Amino acid sequence: MSILASRLSAIKPSPTIAVTTKAAELRAAGKDVIGLGAGEPDFDTPESIKEAGKAAMDRGETKYTPVAGTVPLRKAIADKFRKDNGLTYTPDQITVGCGGKQVLYNAIMATVETGDEVIIPAPYWVSYPDITLLAGGTPVYVACPEETGFKLKAADLEAAITPKTKWVILNSPNNPTGAAYSADELKAITDVLMRHPHVWVMSDDMYEHLVYDGFVFATPAQVEPGLYDRTLTCNGVSKAYSMTGWRVGYAGGPVELIKAINKIQSQSSTHTASISQAAALEALTGPQDFIAERNAIFKQRRDLVVGLLNDMPGLSCRTPEGAFYVYPSCAGVIGKTTPQGRRIETDGDFVTALLEEQNVACVQGEAFGLSPYFRISYATGTEKLEEACRRIKALCESLS
Ligand code: PLP
Repeated sequence: MSILASRLSAIKPSPTIAVTTKAAELRAAGKDVIGLGAGEPDFDTPESIKEAGKAAMDRGETKYTPVAGTVPLRKAIADKFRKDNGLTYTPDQITVGCGGKQVLYNAIMATVETGDEVIIPAPYWVSYPDITLLAGGTPVYVACPEETGFKLKAADLEAAITPKTKWVILNSPNNPTGAAYSADELKAITDVLMRHPHVWVMSDDMYEHLVYDGFVFATPAQVEPGLYDRTLTCNGVSKAYSMTGWRVGYAGGPVELIKAINKIQSQSSTHTASISQAAALEALTGPQDFIAERNAIFKQRRDLVVGLLNDMPGLSCRTPEGAFYVYPSCAGVIGKTTPQGRRIETDGDFVTALLEEQNVACVQGEAFGLSPYFRISYATGTEKLEEACRRIKALCESLS
């Protein structure tokens, strides 16, 4: 009898983490690999936030905290929701977990059972389907093609809803496409959801602050207050505050759901680190100016990469509204052969050729549920991005 539980066979390890690990291994073996796979900013955590973590240690804040997170942090999150999103949550409507990922995981574990359907617009963040499957649920994918700006169409959502639908997961700005929904675009989606009162909304707003060209962020419970009682608004400090390693994510929602999430958390991680919570408190309440400064750099990089990609034979790339990813189509290289004799049949073959023949690590679109595309993270220095694009172009130009 195997030691492994059968539920494991339903899921796979995170493909984005796999690409990052592979790139690190090749680098350790002496290869000059440029990694464009990681979903984390290259910027350091701002000094004031690091200092807040150190000060918490010095004050002896190194013990257990409440499962839901410290009261000051939950109050700060409630203030953030009110100020930024026009959403009123009391601290007992807020939970803090070990990164946004754990909050989503807890929420799905607390609510999804065998036979429940979770609507996941594709392309999607890689963890939504696997967490759903681990809970015994059924992911229901709704294609969001490039022609709709990689955004969910109201009619397609309506067609995907069944009596078994428990959640729809919305993610704007989106990983992997960077596509973000305006308030009007979201309203078309929330209008559908108002007609289906049994469907809950999980809004993953992790990239809220990373929007460009004056784009105005909106979240479903703000756009449609009628959904407030069945929406879990998820967010975190990982991306905008360059705090991926601190592991702090949070969500606001109805008390009953938050209590259920806390119950799951009380039997797993208990809470995220006390020191990280103190740092997150500073992130949310301290100076925010660096976000705009960093966004200006992200925007420059986005424009650089989109421009370079659109100049490569076989590739084309939409300019996204937010996050730090672009999702170029590689339709024009399918069917071609590399100088080393690799035939490119899929986006997976293309990213393998990029890694093996040009030492550039990207993630294949297949991992995110829409092919033939690949994801580039531009959260890396300009020189590296230019060199990576030079190499991608070299591969594209060498195909026959
Ligand atoms: N949601 C989305 C869309 C993400 O891209 C990520 C991280 O890549 C997360 C949630 C999880 O972030 P965290 O590192 O806080 O767990």
